[in-house]
Amino acid sequence: MITLALSKGRIFDESLPLLAAAGIEVLDDPETSRKLILATSRADLRVVLVRASDVPTYVQYGGAHLGVAGLDVLLEHDDGLYRPLDLAIARCRLSVAVREDFDYANAVRQGSRIRVATKYTQMARRHFAAKGVHVDLIKLYGSMELAPLTGLADAIVDLVSTGGTLRANRLLEVEQIMDISARLVVNPAALKIRREPMRALIDAFERAVQERA
Ligand code: ATP
Ligand code: MG
Repeated sequence: MITLALSKGRIFDESLPLLAAAGIEVLDDPETSRKLILATSRADLRVVLVRASDVPTYVQYGGAHLGVAGLDVLLEHDDGLYRPLDLAIARCRLSVAVREDFDYANAVRQGSRIRVATKYTQMARRHFAAKGVHVDLIKLYGSMELAPLTGLADAIVDLVSTGGTLRANRLLEVEQIMDISARLVVNPAALKIRREPMRALIDAFERAVQERA
């Protein structure tokens, strides 16, 4: 049995067409079922539903043999994973945003100091270090948009897809840090031990991605 870790929501929804293109159907709907282990049309493959940020942990420790996780999640996780494939789904970008009336250019002059709230502390730290900006990071787990509006921080580092949430909160995207998409991650030991079925599955994903490109 091969175990594939997915998270509910956009990763699951956008993985379904890729699985379908690989001839795999998931036999339960996570929105209506409370099951966390889902059977598929292939007797040797099951899906486990985990929190998006827990996918790398499951795959790293062998609770799942492979998984689908956003590059954002992977870069915040200290690796130990084989990352063979960009699935080109769940696309967005990691950006810096501030209040409309905040002078970002002035705030990030060389040697200056800025307060940044984010869920993505590792990536934010790297980004501002590369710019030579001192940063006080405030770790948040959600509703990042509130931080500049309440005075908690000068700026946020967050994922942006359409920009609608930023606009609704009168925030301005002032810098794009990187493009993000979901990746297939694989447990290296599982790939060694179950070389044939794992390879076949990875190849099927790869063909599905190419067909959709
Ligand atoms: P949880 O909701 O469990 O706290 P999460 O917010 O990371 O976790 P999702 O909202 O399902 O989970 O996002 C999963 C992945 O989808 C993200 O890790 C990211 O790679 C991608 N993604 C694409 N667009 C966006 C967006 N606009 N906001 C957040 N994530 C996005
Ligand atoms: Mg979410």
